[in-house]
Amino acid sequence: MDFGISPQFEKTLNDIQQFVEQELYPLEPEVGTRGFRATLPKLKAAREKVKKMGFWCPQIPKEHGGMGLSLMEHGMVSAVLGRSMLGHYSFNCQAPDAGNMEILLEHGTPEQKKTFLEPMLKGEIRSCFAMTEPEHAGSNPTWMDTTAKKDGDDYVINGHKWFTSSADGATFSVVMAVTNPDAPPHQRASQILVPIGTPGFKIIKNLSVMGHVGEDHHSHAEVRFENCRVPQKNLLGKEGAGFQIAQERLGAGRIHHCMRWLGICERSFELMCKRAAERELAPGKPLGTRQIVQAWIAESRAEINASRLSVLEAAWKIQNQGQLAAREEISCIKFYVAGVLLRVLDRAIQVHGAMGLTNETPLAAFWAAERGARIYDGPDEVHKMVVARQRLKKYGVQVATAGA
Ligand SMILES: Cc1cc2nc3c(=O)[nH]c(=O)nc-3n(C[C@H](O)[C@H](O)[C@H](O)COP(=O)(O)OP(=O)(O)OC[C@H]3O[C@@H](n4cnc5c(N)ncnc54)[C@H](O)[C@@H]3O)c2cc1C
Repeated sequence: MDFGISPQFEKTLNDIQQFVEQELYPLEPEVGTRGFRATLPKLKAAREKVKKMGFWCPQIPKEHGGMGLSLMEHGMVSAVLGRSMLGHYSFNCQAPDAGNMEILLEHGTPEQKKTFLEPMLKGEIRSCFAMTEPEHAGSNPTWMDTTAKKDGDDYVINGHKWFTSSADGATFSVVMAVTNPDAPPHQRASQILVPIGTPGFKIIKNLSVMGHVGEDHHSHAEVRFENCRVPQKNLLGKEGAGFQIAQERLGAGRIHHCMRWLGICERSFELMCKRAAERELAPGKPLGTRQIVQAWIAESRAEINASRLSVLEAAWKIQNQGQLAAREEISCIKFYVAGVLLRVLDRAIQVHGAMGLTNETPLAAFWAAERGARIYDGPDEVHKMVVARQRLKKYGVQVATAGA
């Protein structure tokens, strides 16, 4: 395994970090006070600069206007972008659009690519992904009530979803709906492209998450589909292949998340060290002279280093041996790095005292946005079960699946 990088790629990472620090850090307080939407004109200007610098859509192949980075390279970029909550958006590789772009590239018809993918690649429109339902455990995603029934040339969709991230201001949603109720659980649902303005597609509200209602790209909506009619040509891939399509990009998606979290860890770690050096308990006695603060710093450094190597190893394995071979590694990093993220953030907040709870630093906003890291994309417990299942199989112990 070689995690070394070329001098040219090192320069790319340095240039991107410089951009994030100089152009995006100063916009963060404005997003905190005026909101994401009010900051959009400045973010648009930042996005134009990213395009000119040649760093647009790092994860997308060059022939489609991206940087054409490998999964490992994109992971390293993601760790730099993650330092700011505006990083991924500014480079057009934000969730859930990044995943939706990938599935459209892979499974979209020429017409779907023209209508939905091309404007997204240019950064003109955004999308969302509606799978989780309030009435059923999202940990067992095959259990859903939303249906898409054929009627003439259309699908008629009925259902209730929530945590549809970034639906506010999006142009379309990828909707998971049951099309084949009699098929085995993993072949019942399909992915259907639904423009947000379609009659019957109702955004009920943006959910208040950790006290923040949010808006635009920084939001999580509750949505309803009431006799929402879309043409059957809006089916993405084959009917009944919804989970298969979702599975295909799970590994890459988790690498992106974990590396983004490591970006947050690095920023938090720097802030913690700076505060430990500057904040004096008494003249000449900064916080960093206390052993417990030193321990927080050392433990955080060790955990970040271990996480980075684990994520890169998982990315290397996906890249070289395929997602299936890396199943255990993917689950291990998902819960391990989420835990490291929250521990590092918590220590950094603690070192800042009351200030750590305010918007004077990005720590509180990171905490509010990322407490969900242990829940979204599979809660910790499900990933631990996946790892234990693989390991205990060899010893004759059967571990149940999510819904069993
Ligand atoms: C910030 C955020 C963004 C999201 N964005 C989207 C999105 O864009 N689109 C979308 O469709 N969904 C999204 N989700 C939803 C997410 O996918 C679900 O929250 C997740 O799958 C968990 O489902 P649940 O919340 O229904 O929890 P449940 O399934 O009800 O689980 C509750 C808890 O039970 C425990 N648990 C679950 N399974 C097991 C088990 N097998 N063994 C032991 N304990 C278990 C876990 O601790 C878990 O937290 C988002 C969620 C968050 C927090």
